[in-house]
Parts: sequence; structure tokens; C-alpha cells
Amino acid sequence: MKKKASDSMEAVYPGSFDPITYGHIDIIERSAEIFEKIIVLVTYNVRKTYSFSFKERTEMAKDSLKDFKNVEVVSYDGLLVDFLNQNSIKVVIRGLRVISDFEHELQMAHANKALYNTMETFFLMTDNEYSYISSSMVKEIVQFGGDVSSWVPEKVAAKLMELYKKN
Ligand code: ADP
Repeated sequence: MKKKASDSMEAVYPGSFDPITYGHIDIIERSAEIFEKIIVLVTYNVRKTYSFSFKERTEMAKDSLKDFKNVEVVSYDGLLVDFLNQNSIKVVIRGLRVISDFEHELQMAHANKALYNTMETFFLMTDNEYSYISSSMVKEIVQFGGDVSSWVPEKVAAKLMELYKKN
């Protein structure tokens, strides 16, 4: 069997996934080609307000990623570096879309490294096709009756329509 350069290496892709979009899925698909296993970590931050519950965000991610053999979805409400340490994982994946993402991502990467020096953050540039997609943009469009079927999986689009029908 052909070995990957990073054989036996696992990586964590943390995020809110509120909800998961094709932009996230593209990053996951590409990372899963490089690393042996990707753990998609659905996070919970008390300072953030989410449109979907922790459980819904996790379920949508699980359903959207069920066909990927080496991708596992895990929900986690602790500190990212503690998860890495507890599971002996060194690599965190993050996606970059625009310059404005960079400032925040750089700060987070430095903070995480300061807390846990063994880890590294790997950045993947967004695919051109998905560069403008964000969870918040998708929600805004659905709220005004727009079609997001090319930006999120079918079941996620249905959940979004359900959410905004109620409100
Ligand atoms: P968080 O609240 O942790 O930023 P998000 O779900 O918004 O969680 O994003 C998780 C990661 O996915 C971030 O690194 C973000 O930059 C990246 N990301 C989100 N949308 C896209 C996209 N369309 N293309 C590439 N990366 C993306």
C-alpha cells in the first residue's frame, strides 16, 4: 500500500459549523487526502451565540460527512489545546478565505501554540468556488428567502428553512 507523507498523522478541524457549508466540506475533503484521519471538532464557546444547538450543529456535520471514511465528527465544549493534549494530536487545520480571516486566525494560532507548544496550525486556502461562503452569509440569504442549495448540503438547507420559518 502506498504510504502518505504524514502516515499515521491525525489532525483536528475545529469550528462552530453553525451550520456546516460546502466551504467547510471542501477543506475537510482536501485535508482528508493528506492526513490519515481528520477529527471535525464541533465546538461550543459560552461567549458565542449560535443559531443551531450544539446537538443540531453536530448532527448536521455528521450527516454531511458520513461518506468520508477517515473523518470523524466529535462535539467538544472545552479548550482546543486540552483536546489535542488528551488525544496526542499535534495538528489543527483552519481555512482561510479572505485577508480579514488572517488576523483572527493568526492570533488564535499563536494563543494555542503558547498554551500547548507541541501543536501546529495548518492553513488551507479556500477554493475559489467557496471563497465567499460563510455560515452567517448562508443564514442571511435563507432568512430573505434565497436559495442556498449550491452552498450547503440538502439536509442543512432544509434545517435552515425550518429555522427561519419558525422565527
Ligand atoms: P469558528 O467559529 O471557529 O471560526 P467556523 O465554522 O466559522 O468556526 O469556521 C471554521 C473554520 O473553517 C475557520 O478556519 C474558517 O476560516 C473556515 N472556513 C469557513 N468557511 C470557509 C470557506 N468557505 N472556505 C474555507 N474555509 C472556511
